[in-house]
Amino acid sequence: MDTLIEVRNLEVGFPVTKRKFLSSTTQTLRAVDGVSFDIRRGETVGLVGESGSGKTTVGRAILRAIDPTGGEVIYHTDAGDVDLAHADDATLQKLRPNLQMVFPEGRVSLHSLSGEALRSFRPRMSLVFQDPYSSLNPRMTVRDIIAEPLIAGGLMSDRAQIDARVREIAARCKLNLEHLRRFPHAFSGGQRQRICIARALVSRPDFVVCDESVSALDVSIQAEIVNLLKDLQEEMGVAFLFIAHDLSVVAQISDRVAVMYVGQFVEYAPTRSLFFTPRHPYTHALLSAVPLADPDLPFNPVRLDGEIPNPMDAPTGCRFHTRCPFARPRCSVDVPAWREIAPTHFVACHFAEEFDFSRPEITT
Ligand code: SF4
Repeated sequence: MDTLIEVRNLEVGFPVTKRKFLSSTTQTLRAVDGVSFDIRRGETVGLVGESGSGKTTVGRAILRAIDPTGGEVIYHTDAGDVDLAHADDATLQKLRPNLQMVFPEGRVSLHSLSGEALRSFRPRMSLVFQDPYSSLNPRMTVRDIIAEPLIAGGLMSDRAQIDARVREIAARCKLNLEHLRRFPHAFSGGQRQRICIARALVSRPDFVVCDESVSALDVSIQAEIVNLLKDLQEEMGVAFLFIAHDLSVVAQISDRVAVMYVGQFVEYAPTRSLFFTPRHPYTHALLSAVPLADPDLPFNPVRLDGEIPNPMDAPTGCRFHTRCPFARPRCSVDVPAWREIAPTHFVACHFAEEFDFSRPEITT
């Protein structure tokens, strides 16, 4: 599979002002700190970690919903299209309805785009939120909700064309014509999430961030939505960044999985390698909470104690050293390098070669 998105040394910081009596100081909260990884066309990358690790911020920065403070997000494009970065507004207006807006060099730095070029690029990327209840406007019909990105993004203006596209994507998401006439309150959580997915895919994006998109749903409905996402991926070739804290769900949908801790990636590997032969103690600790199919199988789980540190006060050296059961003196001093320990298996731990955290089997 070809690379779709390259994330290079991504940093996102937020200024935080602390007030004490009459004085105040401003510090930077580094929510994402030097993250690098690739996403291929048509694949699903799972992103896991505890709350506050920076997962959502990575997703939003890739979508350019928030501006990074450092690094780059490079989007690879199909050959033979137009250089958006240098096209004039009239060209962009003409191109937008066709969604054929790519760059002759085959790559563009998303953060170099602004104005009309950025607006034209946005339909290539989309987002499915966590909460299917609050993310739908209760005063709009399902048809209007799904059509909104086409109209707001200036992709289509002809009503018949819009209706045809809405019906097509609704059918793919198992919504019928009767559903399109109703309002969101008439639907269950799973149906609402299908509406959210239809809205995210109506512009035929190449890339969608699913931010805890099944976390609020019952387990049986989660499986239904995961299967729907897999079917849509096969039909439409879309790539997903699937952000979640439930490792069992991530295992079902992801081709590769990244693990985040205090704003940094600690491990990134193909799903099978990560789940069965993790190399980082934090990944091992997260997986220890996932039950084995047979409790008699040999496995040495570890328990994760304490809270994830505040990124404003991140530990020195390896950020995990304050909770790592395997920490040694070097860990609090030296920052571990991000390295490829096996083909396509990346890890940031000084002693990864010494650990054997192999798991015999998992239930999903
Ligand atoms: Fe644990 Fe040290 Fe490895 Fe960090 S570098 S994960 S503290 S062993």
